[in-house]
Amino acid sequence: MNFNKCARCGCFYVSDGAVCPSCTPKDKCDISKLNTFLTDNTDQVLTVTELSSATGIAKKNISRYVAQKGFEYKKQVKL
Ligand SMILES: [Zn+2]
Repeated sequence: MNFNKCARCGCFYVSDGAVCPSCTPKDKCDISKLNTFLTDNTDQVLTVTELSSATGIAKKNISRYVAQKGFEYKKQVKL
């Protein structure tokens, strides 16, 4: 068995993905919030701190989403 540590709550769980099953819906919600915000602000390049205060998503989670494969808005995020 392979244990993973949840990137959101820090608990250990057995399944694939960066977060545990109970955090998966929260993660999905944050990602869609972030994507919506970036879609609405395509002319802007923002830092993780600015994105965090604009969307209410924790900075560490934004950094994690941006680093994920397939993140479409990399150009809009200043790292
Ligand atoms: Zn969790």
